Amino acid sequence: MAYTVTFWGTRGSIPTPGAHTARYGGNTPCVAVEGPGGQLVILDAGTGIRALGLQLVERQNGAVNAEILLSHAHWDHIQGLPHFKPFFSPGNAVRIWGSRQGTTSLEAILRQQMDPAVFPIPLDALSAKLTVQQVDPGEFTVGAFRVRAMRLRHPGTTLGYRLTPAAGGASMAYVTDNELGPGGHYDTPATWRKDLVAFLANVELLIHDAMYTPQELEQHRGWGHSTFEEAVTLAAEAGVRRLVLFHHEPEHGDAEVDGLLTAARRAAKARGTPAEVLAAREGMTLTL
Ligand SMILES: [Zn+2]
Ligand SMILES: [Zn+2]
Repeated sequence: MAYTVTFWGTRGSIPTPGAHTARYGGNTPCVAVEGPGGQLVILDAGTGIRALGLQLVERQNGAVNAEILLSHAHWDHIQGLPHFKPFFSPGNAVRIWGSRQGTTSLEAILRQQMDPAVFPIPLDALSAKLTVQQVDPGEFTVGAFRVRAMRLRHPGTTLGYRLTPAAGGASMAYVTDNELGPGGHYDTPATWRKDLVAFLANVELLIHDAMYTPQELEQHRGWGHSTFEEAVTLAAEAGVRRLVLFHHEPEHGDAEVDGLLTAARRAAKARGTPAEVLAAREGMTLTL
């Protein structure tokens, strides 16, 4: 099965609108994975999901059925959710998949985000049918895709996802908010790096956290993010064909991201792999 991957939000941590981020985009993480016949899986619900929701409603032909897979519940990955337009029409169905955080259920986290103290519309007042599906690392099916989930090195419980069409076809992986280097205290096993390389083996497309330059990383060890160099090394080890640098640092304007991409391509060329390196750009669509 062929499918497309479209970037609606590429920025880490906080939205960064303005002329200096116009090309790569200022919205926080949201990626739409779409198969034929409107099979849609949405990765993360940062502010990018607002414009995606508008498009889904505009081109609606019958009800919207959306599956949203959350990497984790930090603000930048859920803050667009209350503004997802398909929520506000009866007949639509939205299912949100993600991990609990400690003893707090995913549903409780989503409820807190729309508590009357901080948001005018409570979760129960949405017109669409909402299902919250809590997941653990392992394998499950979301729409037309088989999904594998793996725990990442990031504060809280954060999951990376590998998606493969159930009908067969190229695999992709979404691995953001992940610290590849040493530092931080994470509840992951000693075999984690080896497990991650196996988890990503031969994916056609890897979307990976590449927030920092190597210099910036020195000030941010333990924050749960990676450099472009580390992302290239991982992609090379796992036999990834195409790497997309993701979760851009809010302080990086377009010129800085250009520079980082050039350096990442140089690193990939020196290794002879991955064959292609891109920087996530709002509006960019890739076909697999
Ligand atoms: Zn983030
Ligand atoms: Zn995070």
